Amino acid sequence: MTISRRRRSTTVAALVTAAALTGTLTAARAAPGPAGPGGAQPPRNPVATGYGGAVASVSPYATQAGLDVLKHGGNAVDAAVATAAALGVVEPYSAGIGGGGFLVYYNARTHKVSTIDGRESGPAAMNTNWFIDPATGQPLSFNDAVNSGLSVGVPGSLKTWTTALQDWGTISLKQALQGGIDIASKGFVVDPTFNSFTAMNQARFSQIAPTAKLFLPGGAPPPVGSVFKNPDLANTYKLLAKYGPGLFYGGELGKEVANTAQHPPTIPNPTMDFRPGKITATDIAGYSAPVQAPTHVNYKGLDVYSIAPPSSGGTTVGEALNILSNFDVTPTNQVQALHLYDEASKIAFADRNRWVGDANFSDVPTRQLTSAQYGKDRACLISPTSTLASPVAPGNPFEPGGGTQCPSTAPTGTSYTDTEGMSTTHLVTSDKWGNVVSYTLTIEQTGGSAMTVPGRGFLLNNEMTDFDFSPLYPGVPDPNLPAAFKRPRSAMSPTIVLKDGRPFIAVGSPGGATIITTVLQILVNRLDLGMNLEQAIAAPRASQRNAGTTQAEPAFLNLPEIPGLEALGETFTLAPPSGTPTPEIGAATGLEFLPNGAVEAAAEPARRGGGAAAVVHPVR
Ligand code: GLU
Repeated sequence: MTISRRRRSTTVAALVTAAALTGTLTAARAAPGPAGPGGAQPPRNPVATGYGGAVASVSPYATQAGLDVLKHGGNAVDAAVATAAALGVVEPYSAGIGGGGFLVYYNARTHKVSTIDGRESGPAAMNTNWFIDPATGQPLSFNDAVNSGLSVGVPGSLKTWTTALQDWGTISLKQALQGGIDIASKGFVVDPTFNSFTAMNQARFSQIAPTAKLFLPGGAPPPVGSVFKNPDLANTYKLLAKYGPGLFYGGELGKEVANTAQHPPTIPNPTMDFRPGKITATDIAGYSAPVQAPTHVNYKGLDVYSIAPPSSGGTTVGEALNILSNFDVTPTNQVQALHLYDEASKIAFADRNRWVGDANFSDVPTRQLTSAQYGKDRACLISPTSTLASPVAPGNPFEPGGGTQCPSTAPTGTSYTDTEGMSTTHLVTSDKWGNVVSYTLTIEQTGGSAMTVPGRGFLLNNEMTDFDFSPLYPGVPDPNLPAAFKRPRSAMSPTIVLKDGRPFIAVGSPGGATIITTVLQILVNRLDLGMNLEQAIAAPRASQRNAGTTQAEPAFLNLPEIPGLEALGETFTLAPPSGTPTPEIGAATGLEFLPNGAVEAAAEPARRGGGAAAVVHPVR
């Protein structure tokens, strides 16, 4: 079957009634579904090489959904949306129409890179005191904020999908959702990651009636090996396929989302207090996912494109690369290379925490932070023989010399605790025409706000907790405080690298603020340290985010370079638990476009239970 080209979903918000929502619809099949009888799992290969287009995601089901679209004539954008929609089914704690994300797109016809900002936005009622407890005048605890309607922002994923399909895709929303509908209907096999992520959330999930009903069948996490179905989500996707995004943005589904956040659907006599939110259906109706310019830096002759604010991904990865441009980062001196990676990341994080927020609300120095000159100004802080005392003070990109005092020997910044979660998911796609997509999507914490929209099968995000609850530095303007319609600062860093104007690498990862270091480390591994993409993704990770010590995976702590790094004054701690058996940083996927015209798709061999890469015509 061939997918017909160019069809747009119509917006029929005004026509969609509550009555229509109660019916179960049968969507016409657009492409064969990826889930076999009883939800049999498609192949889970971490690496695939070949021709005709590629997909990599954390899930074999989602990768297969994207691959099916490619095989039936869809392009990279179509495949990305299909993969994302399937991730909403199989990775419901990390992705879905209750959340948001950022998409980077390379258009093979125009040779241009564009992005979509599908970040959740604050409701009209939001103000600086959003997370201040009126009873105490103090900020809420992070957990109290997460588990509340206050944490829910206007979801952006569905708008991202329809914007991408309309502007660059060739298939309808209905066709793009079909793979997800099939998986949600037939079910998928529960793997240890899904089981452990559910167990990790059991206490709070059990407090919300529709979440407990869906994700804790019989009162416990679905066992490994069982088949998990989500007929409510299948039906929601079918309704969206039939009525279009207006059902959500301006229609009944949007009202239900707002109602869920305003009246958290707890069990009778809950033991946790879920504060009500103030998001409205009007907030949801007014949402847009703008197409915006990417960030750009030139790293050793390569053009690196990523996401501009409200994500800090593009500016922070970009600044760190610009800093590293001033050094020889070579495989012949691994200790020095890792030292430079840690230090560049430390400095870039100092600037990120001070300067980056939603650029519609303050003067965010995106251009300066990504300029080669600013990277050079900041690079003077780094010594090859010692480690910068943390926290490093931010520079001032508005000043000549970047406001940097070199050398710097004592900590002069203010420490900052990351509150971003370790959730989220990343996918990459390409097609036979040469288009490429790198797309990171999330509902923030693993399990988001814990609130499932009753009868609709998807969780709502807690993205508003990515705002700072109170000013970070006393007396210093904080660009990431809550405000009406504002988008919280993200770390998501979906990236596309061009070489001589043609796609070379696409990469991204989940992991809250560690997303930035993971993407940076993979780029350094691949571009400087002689690894291929597969090795660059698999290599042990460390994450230095302007903290006193560098977080590291157990395998990183066993590297032979550790004594050398410690001799330079670096210190390491084990990364925090991530819900998987060993602490992990990130769960990346990537593509590399090889000189012979083939594409290599790569996912994690082990993290998060291993991801799935596939190509249309494999040669390996
Ligand atoms: N909310 C985070 C961000 O936008 C992502 C959450 C995560 O990766 O865990 O940066």
